[in-house]
Amino acid sequence: LDYSVDIGWHDARIIPYQNISLDPASAIFHYGQSVFEGLKAYLTKKEQVLLFRPDQNFKRFNQSNDRLCIPHIDEDLALQALKQLIQVDREWIPKAADTSLYIRPFIISTESYLGVAPSTHYQFIIILSPVGSYYKEGLSPIKISVENEFVRAVAGGTGTAKTGGNYASSLKAQQQSGEKGYSQVLWLDGVERKYIEEVGSMNIFFKIDGEVVTPMINGSILEGITRKSILQLLRYWGVPVTERRISIDEIKQAYVDGKLEEAFGTGTAAVIAPVGELFWNNEKMTINNGQTGEVSQKLYDTLTGIQTGALEDPFGWVVEVPSI
Ligand code: PMP
Repeated sequence: LDYSVDIGWHDARIIPYQNISLDPASAIFHYGQSVFEGLKAYLTKKEQVLLFRPDQNFKRFNQSNDRLCIPHIDEDLALQALKQLIQVDREWIPKAADTSLYIRPFIISTESYLGVAPSTHYQFIIILSPVGSYYKEGLSPIKISVENEFVRAVAGGTGTAKTGGNYASSLKAQQQSGEKGYSQVLWLDGVERKYIEEVGSMNIFFKIDGEVVTPMINGSILEGITRKSILQLLRYWGVPVTERRISIDEIKQAYVDGKLEEAFGTGTAAVIAPVGELFWNNEKMTINNGQTGEVSQKLYDTLTGIQTGALEDPFGWVVEVPSI
């Protein structure tokens, strides 16, 4: 789909995967006006194709568009377009257990003009890719390191928007964390460098003394769709859960007191990633003996069950893509 100021979004088309041609002066190469989304389609045992809460992705897409001065898309039309694209590419949806089709909608600014101003031209593209099982055998707890030096995003900056720049700013810390043997960074807030924000590509939850807690929406963390769904599930089960500010000192204290029972990340890719080790200020905190916790496992089983059609969906989260 293309956009120009004079005619709006136009020329929707499905074409084979191929290179795109852009003028070297295209705004995207210089001023970073990009937004993207990530979601998955699952093939059920009955060969139905299910999307998980795609309306939420397109809603968040437009929230990011707002921040980046990118024109809104029609959310219903985008979902229809996505369904058609999946119908055409149905054979690419992998069949094996725990595999899925990853969907990446994105918008880039394409006006050929050097100058800092919102572009007058854009392209909205959706690409698809089969993805394998995230876990080879069962859930594998990850090790994460708390980042003291770098900041990912701040409220008032590009904050909560799902824009390329927020990921560019995270790369240096991710690289350094990887060199130390950790798989993801745990970000702290950019103002006081004290409150927990999120993990590299996931939101974070802790179970402390029987209560599940997660950082509240604050203008800088990504408003994860998995996070939102996990909160709903936990409340449905009657598990005590709170969204609030959580300082890294509180986590350390809970660990010292033996009350840090579980930690897990939530996101489209891994669904649930149990955290087995947290590294902060040269100290390792081992959580639940480095094993997957009970709540993490139950959440993973339930959410993946709903996503793949193996379990009933009491929330109306899954959307079927009919075959043609
Ligand atoms: N935080 C960040 C920075 C992310 O990139 C993602 C992945 N989209 C998430 C959290 C989790 O969001 P979701 O549950 O919508 O995938």
